[in-house]
Amino acid sequence: MSNVCILGSTGSIGRSTLDVIACHKHYNVFALVANSNHDLMIEQCQQFKPRFVVMQNPDASKRVKKTLASLNLPCCVIDSARAAEEVASHPDVDIVMSAIVGAAGLLPTLAAVEQGKRILLANKESLVMSGELFINKVKQHNATLLPIDSEHNAIFQAMPSHVQGASFDAELHQQGVSKILLTGSGGPFLNRDLTTFCDISVEQAVAHPNWSMGQKISVDSATMMNKGLEFIEAKWLFNANVDDIEVVIHPQSVIHSMVQYVDGSVLAQMGNPDMRTPIAHALAFPERIESGVAPLNFSDMLDFTFVKPDYQRYPNLKLAIDACREGQYATTTVNAANEVSVAAFLSGRIGFNDIYKVNEQTLMAMPNRQLESLDEILALDSRAREIANELVRKWEQ
Ligand code: NAD
Ligand code: MG
Repeated sequence: MSNVCILGSTGSIGRSTLDVIACHKHYNVFALVANSNHDLMIEQCQQFKPRFVVMQNPDASKRVKKTLASLNLPCCVIDSARAAEEVASHPDVDIVMSAIVGAAGLLPTLAAVEQGKRILLANKESLVMSGELFINKVKQHNATLLPIDSEHNAIFQAMPSHVQGASFDAELHQQGVSKILLTGSGGPFLNRDLTTFCDISVEQAVAHPNWSMGQKISVDSATMMNKGLEFIEAKWLFNANVDDIEVVIHPQSVIHSMVQYVDGSVLAQMGNPDMRTPIAHALAFPERIESGVAPLNFSDMLDFTFVKPDYQRYPNLKLAIDACREGQYATTTVNAANEVSVAAFLSGRIGFNDIYKVNEQTLMAMPNRQLESLDEILALDSRAREIANELVRKWEQ
């Protein structure tokens, strides 16, 4: 029996994780952490009876506590300032699903890394913000790091088997790998007339053609900032150089990414676009368990196409790749600015094109500096958010 802690249990990845766990007796839901969706948390507690529950939002926490008591459920609601970190690093936890959205996921995930847990990493922002420090801690504490992001999970699966457990330490070229081919669908605006991008509504931006996901990552997919963040994530997870990674648009989202070898072989991982596949893979690795995902039906597939990304259409993708070349201060800045700009777009304060303007100008305003510690990373993240917020106020509609 493995005890699982789910950070972000009420979100899209959190719910898919619970769907997979519900089908297997081997996994016990030990702790659930979320922000404010108290109704769903109460439902999850009724079904899975976790030992610990954390709600970041104080009002939601009180409501959950009161309702669980009235239902006589044996779950303990923790409301200390570092509650998420406490449950993620609890000695009885074996597996931590890191699926909080944004920078808020960093500290609880690091707390789990420091206890040498098996980390299922969906929160790509952790690596974008603090890649070097994060990977060093994984090595130092002998934690197990398994990628959940579908592309990185696909790359992991297509790597030589002896590299899979320690891909962040691999010398790719010595393993015969010539390139990582990071695929992306291109999002809902792959073919939209560029002159109409200023009219893009929130509803249009969050309507992803293939995947059902949370709002922030859906907007990131529409701007392809998501692929940019994944580019940085891939650099850290697979110890890759910027020139070892190539982004390829594959609108059908059947191939989830590929690894090209020096002999000309290309290994791809395929499947229906459903996050339960990478979740089941990482939960059971190196074994295989059922995920509930329907098998691919090849006779249904009419097209199978690949396109090079156009940076005029996706300037955020180029910005993130350039930041990856630049270094940690640039990726931390872009990530923070993008969280602010996407939140401002989702609440109707700025237009779709302004997301890039805020991200780019925040990066331009941030002087290059070496980041040595977590405190320095968090301070830079806060400063970038202040600058981005000022820019949002400037362009507010
Ligand atoms: P979501 O918005 O659906 O869910 C986010 C979860 O985080 C919710 O449970 C929310 O309550 C919780 N949360 C937010 N702020 C919190 C805080 N301060 N403290 C505690 N909990 C907090 O997001 P999602 O789509 O599930 O994405 C989660 C993460 O997984 C993101 O980093 C995203 O990039 C990554 N990811 C998602 C997908 C996907 O298909 N949804 C795919 C790959 C990677
Ligand atoms: Mg992805």
